[in-house]
Amino acid sequence: MKRAIVLILALLVSGCIDTTLPDLTLELGEGRTDGPVCGPDKLQNFPPEQLRITLIDVGQGDGIWIQTPYYENQQLESRNIIIDAGPSGNVPGTSPGGAVMVDYLLTNGLPPGERIDALVISHAHEDHYGGVPALAAMFEIGRYIDPGFAANSSGFLAARGAAQADVSKVGGQSQVPAIPELVPRPFVQTDLFGQYVESDLLWSAAVPPSGNTTDPSGTDVNNTSVAFAIRWGGKQVLLLADLEDEVEQELINANLAGEIDLTSAVMKVAHHGSSSSTSPAFLSHVYPNPGSEEWAVISSGRRDFSGVTLPTEETLANLTRVLGEHHVLSTENRDDIKSPGTEHGDDTIIVTIDADGTVQACYAQ
Ligand SMILES: [Zn+2]
Repeated sequence: MKRAIVLILALLVSGCIDTTLPDLTLELGEGRTDGPVCGPDKLQNFPPEQLRITLIDVGQGDGIWIQTPYYENQQLESRNIIIDAGPSGNVPGTSPGGAVMVDYLLTNGLPPGERIDALVISHAHEDHYGGVPALAAMFEIGRYIDPGFAANSSGFLAARGAAQADVSKVGGQSQVPAIPELVPRPFVQTDLFGQYVESDLLWSAAVPPSGNTTDPSGTDVNNTSVAFAIRWGGKQVLLLADLEDEVEQELINANLAGEIDLTSAVMKVAHHGSSSSTSPAFLSHVYPNPGSEEWAVISSGRRDFSGVTLPTEETLANLTRVLGEHHVLSTENRDDIKSPGTEHGDDTIIVTIDADGTVQACYAQ
């Protein structure tokens, strides 16, 4: 009798579960990058006076969609900026990031043929440029920017060519190299994010800082990355692409010299959470007084780099020490327990900043 009552109660309860509610198990979970799950409102509405930054889960790589705020007419006022296009998926062990991005954009408000106001490819690595042909085939590209360093990569040149062909079709602008075509030097304001969002170019190098152009290492190419600081609602977001320690040190120097202010509410962690970026010193400049509104977001997948997967435990520990639990989100969240080939597309991260400075970050699932 007792068992029958328990069974009936269980059936009643399961029948009442509202599947649109956030997954509280994950929200309060013990996983290293578990965090809040976006409610249905966040997913369905892009309200006025909000800056929205979406790290689309492209697997190992970066694919970031920025929607700038509008007051009355989204179509006229809000800009769609894409920073990096994810990998193509043609390299063994990688995800079809470009296709994942196209799918996400189509499902979340960009109809086929819609204008992407600007596409920035941060640097000449496949996990950032591989998806360009997929994006160019589905959408119009109004403006194209990269650092100007091609790293002897024919794949990168082909991706740039596909973007530039799209740009010239609509009479748009190609600004390569970003310095001096977008702005004359680092640490000055750009017009890239529209009339309401202030932005500084933090970095872009047409030649690696090491000077090595003939046989550039991964680090050399990473350190050419186009990076930005953008501001809305009195809050700043750092978009650091794959910059490594040497350039983070340049940014610390510029911060100390008063050329920039690194203090931020949100950081797109550099280089997928690798240990060659995000030093404790850099973090102390970005988050001098961390509270409950500071976040770090990471774009990564479960790709094995000689026994290392990103983000590293070291980077996560450094970030969590500063920001606390549940404020470090990663598109690689729990990918270790997923089967290969299913790690992309399910841990997209949405960051919103409202005009009053309210900052929220959550997983779109
Ligand atoms: Zn990368």
